Amino acid sequence: MKAVVYEKPFSVTVRDVDDPRIQHPNDVIVRVTSSAICGSDLHMYEGRTAAESGIVFGHENLGIIEEVGSGVTSLSQGDRVVMPFNVACGFCKNCLAGKTGFCLTVNPGFAGGAYGYVAMGPYTGGQAERLRVPFADFNCLKLPPGEEFETDFVLLADIFPTGYHGCELAQVKPGESVAVYGAGPVGLMAAYSALLRGAAKVFSVDRVPERLAKAEEIGAIPIDFSKGDPAAQIKEQTGGEGTDKGVDAVGYQATSHKDTSHEEPAVVLNTLVETVRPTGLLGIPGLYVPSDPGAPDEHAKHGQLLVSIGKMFEKGQQMGTGQCNVKQYNRQLRDMIIAGRAKPSFVVSHELPLDQAPQAYEKFDKRIEGYTKVVLHP
Ligand code: NAD
Ligand code: ZN
Repeated sequence: MKAVVYEKPFSVTVRDVDDPRIQHPNDVIVRVTSSAICGSDLHMYEGRTAAESGIVFGHENLGIIEEVGSGVTSLSQGDRVVMPFNVACGFCKNCLAGKTGFCLTVNPGFAGGAYGYVAMGPYTGGQAERLRVPFADFNCLKLPPGEEFETDFVLLADIFPTGYHGCELAQVKPGESVAVYGAGPVGLMAAYSALLRGAAKVFSVDRVPERLAKAEEIGAIPIDFSKGDPAAQIKEQTGGEGTDKGVDAVGYQATSHKDTSHEEPAVVLNTLVETVRPTGLLGIPGLYVPSDPGAPDEHAKHGQLLVSIGKMFEKGQQMGTGQCNVKQYNRQLRDMIIAGRAKPSFVVSHELPLDQAPQAYEKFDKRIEGYTKVVLHP
């Protein structure tokens, strides 16, 4: 089958790889109809990680079940399903507590599994014609048949729940003000989720014009950090107090707020502390990696960021971090889409055939030509 394969930094190709097979009675094989490119894929694409060439990318997958293992009870051939990016067993201590992003079974020695992701288990990605789904009864969410809402539903695999998770970590409540750093796909989903949860004022910080325009379109207040200190801009619009809550939807590859030609890994965390009022809560879905001996030298230090705990202590703030536990939210968010109460696909800028993945990666990575979120249709 055809798949998107990582070759080397800044290079993916579409080529033939082995078809996945049922390896365990609890597996299913899905014919992938949609698989999105994620900002998380860019960490590998840009060579920031220890990802080796040959990995098939793709953890945001939706498709039709083609083959069902003999132990699977709730799924049938022909079912349309979306898979949380977390591969999880459903029976370990963390899964039982709903923390499926930290499954202790699928990837021993490291918390959590994912499709097509370095250090997150042996699971091949879904930017391909077919995908093997382990523990399938647990790892598939059934969708209504047909093709309706395809680009809304594919976002249930990751970024819609992840944006929502950012708001959950910050416990965003009706009437509150929220600052969301990053208006990439995750940040836009966090801003959208804050509004769905009834926030009164949501600030969306970025510097990419098309992304800020999308934020404004959904009712958030765009803040362009290339035009001046974003914390100061937001304080000015919150009576000098700062916001009630804050979400970091950027992560360690953040651009410096002062010199936008440089990356400054801790800038968003420290600016969030500055932006949010005393005793406010911070949700951090943006990715930070542990110091990684396998990663290129200049990136290995990212696990030891200098976050000003003194400033956080002074302000009595709390912070929540980590991978999203997609299963905690995806059913409810699916039902909001079906009921017409949520339309996350406003974030999708491009729908392309698999063959165009190399160009799509390049443009999404450079954040040019309005490439905000790409959905590939194998
Ligand atoms: P993205 O790279 O497309 O978006 C990041 C955005 O942040 C860009 O628009 C960029 O212009 C902006 N940005 C850069 N520096 C900034 C700064 N200093 N201040 C404000 N904005 C800044 O990626 P994405 O798909 O939106 O993902 C965002 C982050 O979320 C990534 O780190 C990704 O790995 C992570 N992520 C985490 C989870 C999870 O489960 N926790 C899931 C998916 C993605
Ligand atoms: Zn993702």
